[in-house]
Amino acid sequence: MPAPYERRYRHIDRRAIHTTRLLVRTRPWGRDAAALASARTWASRVAEVYGIEVPTVIIDRRHPDFRLFGDSYRPMNRTIVLGTFSVVSLAHEFRHHWQQQTGAHLTTRADAEDDARAWSLSLFRAAAPRRFARMAAAGRIHFVDAGEWRRRAGRAIALAHALEGGR
Ligand SMILES: [Zn+2]
Repeated sequence: MPAPYERRYRHIDRRAIHTTRLLVRTRPWGRDAAALASARTWASRVAEVYGIEVPTVIIDRRHPDFRLFGDSYRPMNRTIVLGTFSVVSLAHEFRHHWQQQTGAHLTTRADAEDDARAWSLSLFRAAAPRRFARMAAAGRIHFVDAGEWRRRAGRAIALAHALEGGR
């Protein structure tokens, strides 16, 4: 059985992780101009890290591509379209852009999708481990086993209590 998505990529470029950490720190949730600016800055920096073209990023629920396809990457015009800002969604669609630019993981749609899930979730976890753990345990991250992260949180709490009790 393959490793869970969030543990699939263990050696993501440190600069990409750092840039993602900075993105999370700007707390860019939403659809406003600040969120869009943060998303575009992130995309251009990470594109530079991987030596690929900078994709266009659009955050607009009324955009025709969003209405047709939802969160998506359009290879024809190298455009990422999101309905609302999300670090994982941005990273996921960016990975599809990277796949198109490098020709990697394009054999089947399932392979491309699997790779995009694994890269975006591994990246988010590496960049913001506590936030990831909290959201995962709360069942707020697709394709991540919430039960496992709840058990992990339970063990961490039990350990903290044991350490306090031993003092
Ligand atoms: Zn996808």
